[in-house]
Amino acid sequence: MACPLSTTFRVLRRLPPIGPRLRSVALFAMLASSWAGLAVADGQPVHQEVPRHPLELRALVDPAGVLAELPALLKKAELARDYRELALLRVAQANACRVKADWTCQRDAGVQARLAAEAGGLPVLEVRGLIAEARGRISMQDFTRGEHSLGDAERRLAIHPFPEMKADIYLAYSSLSYTLGKHAAAADHAQKGLDALGTVPAPTIRVRLLRNRANALAQLGRRNEAKLLVEKGLELAGPLNDPKLSAELYLEHARIARLEGDTRTATDNGRRILELAQSLRASQLVGLGHEILGLAAQDEGDASLAETELRAAVESFHAQANERDERRVLRSLVAGLLDSPRPPADLPLLTRRLVELETTLDTRDQMLAGDDLDARLKYAQQEFDVQRLQASAALTREREAASAGRQRFAQAIAGMSIGLLVLVGIFFLWQRRLNTRLRQAVTRLSQSEQELSASEGRLRTITDSIPALISRIDKHERYVFMNARAFRVFGTKPEELLGKTILEVRGPEQHALVKPHVEAALRGEAVSFEGFIDLRGQGLHYQSSFVPDRDANGDVQGFFAFTFDITQLKLAEAELDRLARIDSLTGVSNRRDFGDRLHAALARCQREEEGIALLCLDIDKFKDINDGHGHPVGDAVILAFAARLKAVLREDDVVARLGGDEFMVLLENPGPETAGIVAGKIVAAMRDPIQIDDLSLPVSVSIGVAYSAGALPAEQLMSRADAALYAAKSAGRNNWRAAPVEAGA
Ligand code: GH3
Ligand code: MG
Repeated sequence: MACPLSTTFRVLRRLPPIGPRLRSVALFAMLASSWAGLAVADGQPVHQEVPRHPLELRALVDPAGVLAELPALLKKAELARDYRELALLRVAQANACRVKADWTCQRDAGVQARLAAEAGGLPVLEVRGLIAEARGRISMQDFTRGEHSLGDAERRLAIHPFPEMKADIYLAYSSLSYTLGKHAAAADHAQKGLDALGTVPAPTIRVRLLRNRANALAQLGRRNEAKLLVEKGLELAGPLNDPKLSAELYLEHARIARLEGDTRTATDNGRRILELAQSLRASQLVGLGHEILGLAAQDEGDASLAETELRAAVESFHAQANERDERRVLRSLVAGLLDSPRPPADLPLLTRRLVELETTLDTRDQMLAGDDLDARLKYAQQEFDVQRLQASAALTREREAASAGRQRFAQAIAGMSIGLLVLVGIFFLWQRRLNTRLRQAVTRLSQSEQELSASEGRLRTITDSIPALISRIDKHERYVFMNARAFRVFGTKPEELLGKTILEVRGPEQHALVKPHVEAALRGEAVSFEGFIDLRGQGLHYQSSFVPDRDANGDVQGFFAFTFDITQLKLAEAELDRLARIDSLTGVSNRRDFGDRLHAALARCQREEEGIALLCLDIDKFKDINDGHGHPVGDAVILAFAARLKAVLREDDVVARLGGDEFMVLLENPGPETAGIVAGKIVAAMRDPIQIDDLSLPVSVSIGVAYSAGALPAEQLMSRADAALYAAKSAGRNNWRAAPVEAGA
């Protein structure tokens, strides 16, 4: 064991130059204090009171007050070169700083305490200074230097054993290990500290050791042991009047309670911490109390209370510039808010602050960490935590953005819904009005349609009853309407013909025939024409009228075709014509027909330069028959005469009765002698009497023949034939005479 005197002299050498009298006083004081601080009996340390300044105890309850008083006292001590007082004041200052969680202050005060103790040759106080410095450094995460300080303190104690100080160093090691996450080592160091204390009644250190071991054991899952230690600590702390220490115990008690799900105990402890904090104005405890209350509330699921308490804790720590505690609580606060279904508006700000703290503290810690592997590992872990937190914050921002987006979307949807409702309302009202109008319109339309339908029905009935084919054809020559008669005409239902063109329905030949009329109608001209068509082997005469169909603007959209079947009419006309051209008694051509035939023959003969012969016949003395036997016998004679006449002539020769007993025969292209030959045959044919009933009546005929090569007009030819007849009559009748052939005739 080194002599304390050697230390005393070493310190004396370092003292600034002072007068011999003062040096003597200092030497005495130092010796006294050294012997007072340490006593060795048989190589075993004996208990001695740790030298403390009264302010150190006050610092536990009024750190701010103590810190306020210290400058003046320090100055006074410095002036007095009272190193013990200086060292004790600095230790008291370090403790006040610790209570306020001002680690820099604690470290610096510890350093000053050490220097003063060194200067005063006060090894126990030197150790205290080193421990204070180490604690400050460890709290600042400056583990390497903190550990060095502890090592220095340990070496000092090796020279000057002091159980309470030894325990205090173990306590610091325990805190260091705990901070580094080495909970088993922390528990072990705490136990060593307790062992080092032995029976020494150092309740403050003992309680702290109990607290540290309890903390570490709780982290190791040995909650029951931890709980017992905390309870024991609380029991011992009662009379110590160290609110911070009690609060720390309550804090740990609360933490263990939380781990056990006992939120009531956690909350009670939180309140106790806050009560203790009342006496420690502006201390770390305010934040800790709110923190534990917030965490307990989080455990109970009371997110609102948790947020309030944790915010209070953050504010408290922030006000004290206690960044590490602020960061810890912020972690809990932000984590809770991240899980909130409605994160507060300032969550991004809180998260930013947390990331800022994580980054700055980590950077600072890393700078301090140096080569400390454990520390580096811890920072790596913290860095990972920061990244995770940043990622989590980014996720939250995204979630908030999405939430805001959803909110905006929901608001937009709500707005749109309201808008839609209004629109639907307007639309509904409008539709009602429209419906009313529509109903009225539909009613009118229905009436119109009924009327139209009736009208169309009537029209169809009419058109179907009309003995005509009625159709409407558009400008593309397609049938768009056709009445029922179409079926009779074309043998097809009207609806099957609709949409088909004239060409398709009537074929190319008929289409070509009607095409000019169709074009005329589509030009807007009304046309009428007749035609003949062979329908399924039956001839059909028709008469068609095309009437243009114009729209409101007067433009031709097609035409109406009215086609009448005039076959019967044509037949009747033909019969009438035939009847008009024949002699009703004999059936041969009458004068009219003969005149037409004569003119036609003359034209043809003239065109073809052929001759024509005209025979004019008159029964001789016919009046006598009429007069002798009556008109009916006379008619019968005429009829018999005509029959004999036709029998003599060829089919192509024209026989006509011009009236009374006068007949005409027209021979086309006869030779010059042929007419005479024919005339002779006729005269000869009448030689036998005509038998009428029982009457045998002799009949003769006189014939005048006129011949023309085609140059004579009909009247002249007839006149010449009549003259020749007269000549034959004059010549005794029953013969024929030919008119002389004139030049050019
Ligand atoms: P001619 O030899 O000179 O011809 O003497 P004719 O008696 O025949 O005299 P003419 O030819 O002039 O008389 C014709 C008569 O024929 C006169 C008229 O009463 C008669 N006659 C005219 N039309 C008819 C008729 O349709 N039926 C009958 N039975 N007699 C008619
Ligand atoms: Mg006559």
